[in-house]
Amino acid sequence: MRTSGGSVRWWWLGGAVLAAAGAVVIARQAIDDQRALFETDARIVHRLLSQQVVQHDAILDTLALLQPAPDTSGAAAPEQRLPSLYPHILSVQRRERGAAWSDPDLTAAEQRSAQDRRPALARPDLASGRYRLVLAAQPTAYALTIDLRGMVPWDEWPMPADSSPVRVLLEHAGQRHELQRGDPAALAGPGGWRFEFHKHLAAASQPFDVVAERRLGWSQLPWGLMGAWSALVATALTLGAQWQRQRTARQRAEELLRLGQVARLNTLGELAAGMAHELNQPLTAVLANTQAAQRLLAEDPPELDTARQAMAQAVDQSRRAAEVVGRLRRTVERPGTPDGVSSALLPLDLGEAARRAVHLLEPECRRRGVAPQVQADAVVAVTGDPVAVDQIVHNLLMNALQAMDAVDPATRALTLTTRREGGMGELGVADRGPGIAAEALPRLFEPFFSTREGGLGLGLSLCETLAQGMGGSLAATNQAGGGAVFTLRLPLSGGNP
Ligand code: ADP
Repeated sequence: MRTSGGSVRWWWLGGAVLAAAGAVVIARQAIDDQRALFETDARIVHRLLSQQVVQHDAILDTLALLQPAPDTSGAAAPEQRLPSLYPHILSVQRRERGAAWSDPDLTAAEQRSAQDRRPALARPDLASGRYRLVLAAQPTAYALTIDLRGMVPWDEWPMPADSSPVRVLLEHAGQRHELQRGDPAALAGPGGWRFEFHKHLAAASQPFDVVAERRLGWSQLPWGLMGAWSALVATALTLGAQWQRQRTARQRAEELLRLGQVARLNTLGELAAGMAHELNQPLTAVLANTQAAQRLLAEDPPELDTARQAMAQAVDQSRRAAEVVGRLRRTVERPGTPDGVSSALLPLDLGEAARRAVHLLEPECRRRGVAPQVQADAVVAVTGDPVAVDQIVHNLLMNALQAMDAVDPATRALTLTTRREGGMGELGVADRGPGIAAEALPRLFEPFFSTREGGLGLGLSLCETLAQGMGGSLAATNQAGGGAVFTLRLPLSGGNP
């Protein structure tokens, strides 16, 4: 059944889904942005550190190229000036031809360097924050001691090293050295989104991994923006619901007008006034003529000819009165079709008509504490004039609601049921009002029969006329459990036996 309560629920449910979907999109976008930023920064870090380590190779190669070392008796060897040029190169050691390294790690590294024809690491200890790089060369081999932190070009660093939430490490053979602390509390936290970056430095001689890590917690999502979106949706929904309410009220008013309930009664009032006016004249003439005939017959001798004429005129006037009544009757029978010919009949679903009428009278029902039930799951397609059917159902519902005013609100109930029966489609309107008094039952469809204070008694007679005009009927009976039930029957439409 279509109720505004139901549609309002769907309306708000749809809004909640829209708000949630929008918030998810905003959150996703924020996460994607943060991930992209993280990856860009990590790639820059990798490039900067790669440039540094490649430079170490170049320095060692240059030292080897300058062999043999110029005679430096008395003066410090020129490579000893390197630390002042590159502060992160802590010291430069050399092994002269025929001499041996004092440290066996350097000897082993030189052997590897000679083998691989490139500088080699001398057993690094990353925890100490420094490492040694050896190049085998003849006659002199060189070793650099490099400070890990010192080699970072902080002025080109893409993140604020002190406050960035990204942790940056250098890793080698299970050892690691932290270059940037990041946010340890966030990194250790559960859930959220974890971004990671691992890549070898671009120098085979210094096979360190650059590792960058970041965790984005739930609290770092753009809640303000997500809240603003939800508020926007809620505002739009409230405005939309308001607009929808106004539209429904307007449509209802227009529909009521279309049904012409009020207009019809006004027209009937006018018709009644017109009827009185038009009948007044022939009835006055009938009265005058019959009184004259009475007088003429009482004379002695009676004036038979003149009396006959008077009676003939009375007969003519009576016929005129009958014509007036007949014409007005035809007008009432088929409103809008003055010739009394029924307008085109169309296929229509009785269940739909029931739902439409209930929807239209929703405010009336609510005011009276009645929740109408429409039991019309299967389509019952009949032929009829949609406006006339709407008018009949509307009248039956109004009558039921008015009848139920006389009973306790708690016991009120209204059920509309559709079904097929003997080649006809049926729509039953059953109420739990006081029912119809036995003496009223046979007179219910008479024009001007009413037990309602201020009632015109035209509703049911008009409904019956309309139903008969469509080849159907309207019947009333009392229900066993109390209350009245009115049944509208209309011929089933062709394709719906
Ligand atoms: P009105 O509503 O103006 O009285 P109607 O032709 O619609 O005219 O109804 C005629 C009479 O039928 C009502 O006065 C009332 O006595 C009776 N009636 C109609 N519907 C019901 C109903 N659902 N329950 C009891 N009586 C009804």
